[in-house]
Amino acid sequence: MGISRPTKYIFVTGGVTSSLGKGIISASLAKLLQARGYSVTIQKLDPYINIDPGTLNPYEHGECYVTEDGAETDLDLGHYERFLNITTSRANNITTGKIYQSVINKERKGEYLGDTVQVVPHITDEIKHCIKLLGETNDYDFVLTEIGGTVGDIESLPYIEAIRQLKFELGKNSLSIHLTLIPYLSAAKELKTKPTQHSVKTLLEYGVQPDILVCRTEKPLNQSIKDKIALFCNVDTSSVIESIDSSSIYRVPLLMKDEELDVVVLKKINMDTHGTPDLDKWKTFLHRLENPKHVINIGLVGKYVELIDAYKSIIESLIHAGTANDCKIDLKLIQSEKLNEKNITKKLKDLSGILVAPGFGDRGVEGKIMAAGYARKNKIPFLGLCLGMQCAVVEFARNVLMLNGAHSTEMEENTPHPVIDIMETQKKVTLKGGTMRLGSYPCNISTKSKTFSIYKQTHISERHRHRYEFNNKYTGDFENAGMIASGINPTANLVEIIELIDHPWFFGVQFHPEYKSTVANPHPLFVSFIKAAFEHKQKNQ
Ligand code: GLN
Repeated sequence: MGISRPTKYIFVTGGVTSSLGKGIISASLAKLLQARGYSVTIQKLDPYINIDPGTLNPYEHGECYVTEDGAETDLDLGHYERFLNITTSRANNITTGKIYQSVINKERKGEYLGDTVQVVPHITDEIKHCIKLLGETNDYDFVLTEIGGTVGDIESLPYIEAIRQLKFELGKNSLSIHLTLIPYLSAAKELKTKPTQHSVKTLLEYGVQPDILVCRTEKPLNQSIKDKIALFCNVDTSSVIESIDSSSIYRVPLLMKDEELDVVVLKKINMDTHGTPDLDKWKTFLHRLENPKHVINIGLVGKYVELIDAYKSIIESLIHAGTANDCKIDLKLIQSEKLNEKNITKKLKDLSGILVAPGFGDRGVEGKIMAAGYARKNKIPFLGLCLGMQCAVVEFARNVLMLNGAHSTEMEENTPHPVIDIMETQKKVTLKGGTMRLGSYPCNISTKSKTFSIYKQTHISERHRHRYEFNNKYTGDFENAGMIASGINPTANLVEIIELIDHPWFFGVQFHPEYKSTVANPHPLFVSFIKAAFEHKQKNQ
């Protein structure tokens, strides 16, 4: 199907509280439109002043998601890619920092010579430009734009103003969806619409009439509640969409289909509503996800375990891979800081697979190294991601090569055995934002390796986010002792994958496969890891 012109723009705002799941609702609507044959992309506008979340602590904003083109972005882009099986780019995540940076750069170049540079129109024009940019590629029928934050926040004002202007300019080729919460008061045994009314009133004050309300709720909305919301918020009753709590985010597209969110959108935008979304493959995935034949324990060793958003893509990749193996993943989050020689057996012995997470800095790193060692010695399937791979290398150096005090120079600048060292290209880097080795790089896989039997190809590309790398001075020693470099970057000769010869399943990767696993294409490394973990469980039962 060719791209329908002009591009249609859908804006998604949020009201009442944060964390209502705008990203999932946006991705679910996009999925329904995609399943009707339309080409869709989603972008996220974040009203904070950081240029990107790359410099944010995961406690602030969860995981930093990396795109193919090396942008450090909001974790919602991960949901977009996983749901839609598309790649996003730098243009899909805009922050206030980026907007202001661009406007200030233009001011310095003299592009506004003579003018006073103001929030309206200069900042709002820049926001509008960033929204329309994706549509102007002619690649999409629909561009969905999710506005971070909650309506009423001081920071979001220029974004809402930009939407107001765009809705006016684009007319029928745009619409806005407002996601709100209908809280249930258990004392009164009632669902309450007042916060939604207030939130819509705030939007109206800014000149934006939402076309559709998606209402998050823990109890079904009856007709009279829907009528009441419609009456107070100037929308048709059919445009009040219930979004009931769901046990899995992957069920939400089906819930939205039952509520006919896609049909309401298409009607409002004057597009064909014939036919239904083809969700057969999605339903097959969901059926397998919800009806697992086995359960396996997987340990995720990291330092942000009280915050699952910090490991969002890893957890979703495990779910995809579990589903592909008909396994429910019982995820055990293990705080690496708390692991020590005394408790390690107790904490890790019942795991069928151990995954050591990426990370920065030395907090909890000894626990990660210890976990890699436990997996190596006890032949438990092991997957080390980025810092997780580096920890496996350090452990092998210390305990197999007997290189006392071996470490990464990130943690121990003067280590006698820098088996992980800063990359040559990083040595002169002083600025922090966006300066790591970021995004997609090619990797050649040795046909003799076990890695090859997983990827079944010699040329792959994966996404990166790091400054340190395996120190090639040690490659020979490692290989002679049984840890081989099975994947190499062809241009810089960097070790991207290591595997243990004498182990059922032990891999470390310098990249982040978790950024590329989608519902339609679970990542082969994760699928193989879960398969190995299942086999380990069978053997040890
Ligand atoms: N801190 C390590 C490095 O910069 C690993 C980074 C990561 O795990 N993403 O190389």
